[in-house]
Amino acid sequence: MANSAASGDYVLPRELLQRYAKPGPRYTSYPTAPVWSDSFDAAEARRLYAQNNPADSQAPLALYAHIPFCTSLCWYCGCHVKIERNKAKVTGPYLQALRQELALLRAELAPGRQISQMHWGGGTPTYLSPEDISELTASIVAAIPRAEGAEFSIEVDPRVTTDEHLQALRESGFNRLSMGVQDFNPQVQAAVHRIQPFEKTAELIHNARKRGFVSINIDLMYGLPHQSVESFAATLDQVRELDPDRIALFHYAHVPWLKPAQKLIKSEDLPDTESKTQIFELAVATFLARGYRYIGMDHFAKPDDELTLAQQAGSLRRNFMGYTTQAGVDLYGLGVSSISEIDGHFVQNLRAIPDYEERLAAGQLPTLRGMWLSPDDLLRKAVIEELICNGVLDFAAISQRFAIDFENYFAAELQACAPLAEDGLIALNAGQIRVQPRGQILIRNVCMIWDAYLQAQQSKQMFSQTL
Ligand code: SF4
Repeated sequence: MANSAASGDYVLPRELLQRYAKPGPRYTSYPTAPVWSDSFDAAEARRLYAQNNPADSQAPLALYAHIPFCTSLCWYCGCHVKIERNKAKVTGPYLQALRQELALLRAELAPGRQISQMHWGGGTPTYLSPEDISELTASIVAAIPRAEGAEFSIEVDPRVTTDEHLQALRESGFNRLSMGVQDFNPQVQAAVHRIQPFEKTAELIHNARKRGFVSINIDLMYGLPHQSVESFAATLDQVRELDPDRIALFHYAHVPWLKPAQKLIKSEDLPDTESKTQIFELAVATFLARGYRYIGMDHFAKPDDELTLAQQAGSLRRNFMGYTTQAGVDLYGLGVSSISEIDGHFVQNLRAIPDYEERLAAGQLPTLRGMWLSPDDLLRKAVIEELICNGVLDFAAISQRFAIDFENYFAAELQACAPLAEDGLIALNAGQIRVQPRGQILIRNVCMIWDAYLQAQQSKQMFSQTL
């Protein structure tokens, strides 16, 4: 990977922008969710769980819990979310359904399995009261014990998270926080309907550190309305004061045909491609100058962060919760729309809250869809994961792992790589592909070459622009 790269290496020649800015998946999974099958039902999910839970299994597992509620809608939001101010109305039934799902999952798991990693996302998990957070965590670890040294992380919204929340989270074993910031500029915040003063965010981070949270991530976003290089430079100065351990810098994907809330954002207020690129380049240069490493796919981490160390060792992995150091750990999802990834195969829960609650009230798994991956899917998934996580694709290692002749199997893909090598996105030699700094920025384009489903999907306007 290009960890020793200088910030100038991340400046994209403008003709490359035009060539590579096109719709493409973000590859949180491969194959991407739109190709999963609706005929994959609860019985299939049970079959998958059974296959991977022999009675004597002690394999650690990761758990994701989705809390879909927020009190106010951010207009850029791309998450699966329900806006509800009346908390009493929704939390009781939803928590009841979550507990029912937990009991069903418990029955599928081998008794010796423990949680090595847990993440709560949303929506806003701290929409729940501190008491509800404590009780839900207690129910989870009573059903599936927490492994020694487990990571428990949660997304918090500084606008609604109190010190009592932090106390309940720490007492429940949470040790990592992630929070949305996006931009501190008041005009930008007003244009996306998310007013979050710097002081409130700073206070939350200060209190979290005092309470012993060991890692704090903040999310920023570029491409939002009214953003400029100057305004974002001011936000980056404020971010410096917060000293986060990790930073995610997301590109705002304006896809109002997929996310109706985004229709509230005026297209004419959005920065043009050139301005967005300058903002991105400024942010990268700033983070690198401050000592962060570019992990790839929008993520930066301090040099001694375990993600950075895992990437240097070639062992970084990625799942629906983000980058992870835990290779080969099955992920079980709880809650509406959540996704499980078990032995490489996928299951997704129902997306509508009433359907989810109804199915669980009937004592059934709330499966919406899923996918058994074919040998070709698993192979391409591994290729894409190596490129995104470790930035090196070693042909011999993949050949050995999947019993193929890489250069023969992927002859067409290797041919398609040639222009990317000419444009400096990748270096292609000695039986390896190495992702270059430009290729890190355009990693989605690099991955698209290996995606067997892309052509059929591209005509359907399913994806945001890669840049
Ligand atoms: S707080 Fe997060 S999940 Fe809720 S609307 Fe805003 S961006 Fe979406």
